[in-house]
Parts: sequence; C-alpha cells; structure tokens
Amino acid sequence: MKILVTGGAGFLGSCLVDRLLAAGEEVCVVDNLTTGNVENIKHNLSNSNLRFTNDSVLNEPLMEKLIKECDAIYHLAAAVGVKHIVDDPLTSIKTNVKGTDIILDLAHRYWKKTLIASTSEIYGKSNQIPFDEHKTERVLGSTKIDRWAYSTSKAIDEHLAFAYSKKGLPVVIVRYFNSYGPRIDEKGYGTVVARFIKQALKGKPITVHGDGGQTRCFTYVDDTVRGTILACTTKGAEGDVYNIGSNQETSIYQLAELIKELTGSSSEIAPTSYESYYGKGFEDTIRRVPSILNAKKKLKFEAKVSLQEGLKKTIKWCKEDW
Ligand code: UDP
Repeated sequence: MKILVTGGAGFLGSCLVDRLLAAGEEVCVVDNLTTGNVENIKHNLSNSNLRFTNDSVLNEPLMEKLIKECDAIYHLAAAVGVKHIVDDPLTSIKTNVKGTDIILDLAHRYWKKTLIASTSEIYGKSNQIPFDEHKTERVLGSTKIDRWAYSTSKAIDEHLAFAYSKKGLPVVIVRYFNSYGPRIDEKGYGTVVARFIKQALKGKPITVHGDGGQTRCFTYVDDTVRGTILACTTKGAEGDVYNIGSNQETSIYQLAELIKELTGSSSEIAPTSYESYYGKGFEDTIRRVPSILNAKKKLKFEAKVSLQEGLKKTIKWCKEDW
C-alpha cells in the first residue's frame, strides 16, 4: 500500500512511519517541521519506500497530488498540545480546522480511506469518568479561555469526518490520551513527561502545577501507534471514534515522584502556579480517563505498557539522544 502520513516527522507520526515501513508499506510523509523534526525520520531517509516533503497540509495543490497517488491517509498534522494553542491560538485553529477540511475534501474526491487523529482534550473538563466516546458530554469553558480552542478545533475536525462518513467516505477517528515515549520533544511543548524528565536530569525543580492532584492516563507510544494502525485497518471500524489510551490513572504529583525515582534525581518537587506557565485565566482538566471498551471490542486494542516500564525506556532514550 501507498500511505500518506501527514505530520509524519512529529513524535507520534515518525513512530507510526517506522511501523508502517517495517510492515513493508510505501510511505509518503508531509510535515512542515513546526513541531516535527527531520531528526525523527533521518534513519529512514535512505529507505526507498519513504518519501518526505517539507510542506504544509494547507498547500492544497500539493495535497491533491499526494492524495491522488496514495491508497490511505493517516492525518496527524496539527497544532498539538494545550501550550501551543495558548501561545498562538490563531495559527493553531487555522491549521487544525483548515488542514483537516482540505484533507477530508480531497479524500472524499479521490475516495481514500482516512484516519483522523483527534484528542482526549475533546472531553474538556467533563467529570463523567471514564470518558465514553459516544455517551460522555463534552464540557468546555468560556471562549475567552484559549485552551478550549484546541478542543473546539478538534471537535470541528471530528464533525467534518462524521459528515463525510455520512456521504460514504471510509473514515475513522482516534482520540489520543497523553502519549509519551522516545522522541518526545525536548522543548517539552505539550507534554509534562518531557518537561519533568528534563528537569529531573538537570537537577532542576520539577514544576508541578497546582497541587498536582490532576490526573492523566499516560500512554506509551508503541501502544498509541498500534491502536492507530488497528483503527485504520480493522474492517468495520469505519465511521466511528476510538479512545486510544491506557486506563492507568496517574496524578501529576505521582508522575513527578516516579520520574524523580527512575532518574535517581535529587531535584525537589516544586509546586508551581498554572499562571506562571500558561498565563492568566487558565483552566485545567482535573481527571482524564478513557473508557477502553469501544477500542477493545471493535479494534481488539488495549494498551499493554505500564507507566513504569514506558518511563524507563523513555528516560533511557532522553539520556542518550537529547
Ligand atoms: N504540567 C505540570 N508541570 C509542567 C507542565 C505541565 O504540572 O511543567 C501539568 C499541566 O498543568 C496538566 C498536566 O501536567 O495538568 C498535563 O499537561 P500536558 O501539557 O502534558 O498535557 P494536557 O493533558 O494538559 O493536554
């Protein structure tokens, strides 16, 4: 198969590309290297099954050419992470909404199987735990709070995907839950795991926002990639949305303690205000836990890697490659 991966030089995208190439697929990557990094795919550049284009998914003529030629699309290119949105809401909204609009319109025109990468941020600050793809009501704050633009832009992407699905397009959506692993971005944009590991390795204070009682379900990248491929390749999975995540709920304070322990760091765990990082008027999600039933039932997917095991591998990589 010829597979187009948008955002294929990113942390997650590049790991997906590794897996697709290993399975013998031909892969075409489009990435404008905003948060992606050519280092992530460097080891594959001599592989004749990989083609890399440094450009944006907003370049419609280019996307038309690439989509015409491919058999399936994994659309991962997006402005990712809450911090990005808070820092530059305009570019983030445009990338997420226009980019997906272009991809889905072309996928529909040329009739190509498409996977849309979405996010657990979709659920906002809902307290209906665990988050169920079909039943949980999304709860978002005021539009004056930039954070919610991320959830909203991704929700538009999902609505678009379902609208095309109604027109018969084979399309599937995955919602990621705090993915981490080797190749996490050193700058730590959008991932607390990268920031804490960096702080711990440098002996700097580990900056826990608030009281650190907020929880996430950190999902090791190998699990995320496996779930993504299953969603795109499982017959009958089209037209639906799947939580792709571990259900091991961990508080941010526990994460800080675990990273401190696994790195053997002497860093102090330092409670820090949200405001110092995100600016004024930030709202956080207090608990984020996926229901894993839909993915289990329809994709036969379940995350396998424990946080302890995944962090060990990630820390090893960070020590060697950062
Ligand atoms: N966080 C933290 N310290 C940091 C960076 C993030 O305590 O230096 C917290 C953040 O406020 C949030 C959680 O870690 O409660 C997860 O943040 P991240 O940006 O990784 O992703 P999110 O789940 O919010 O999309």
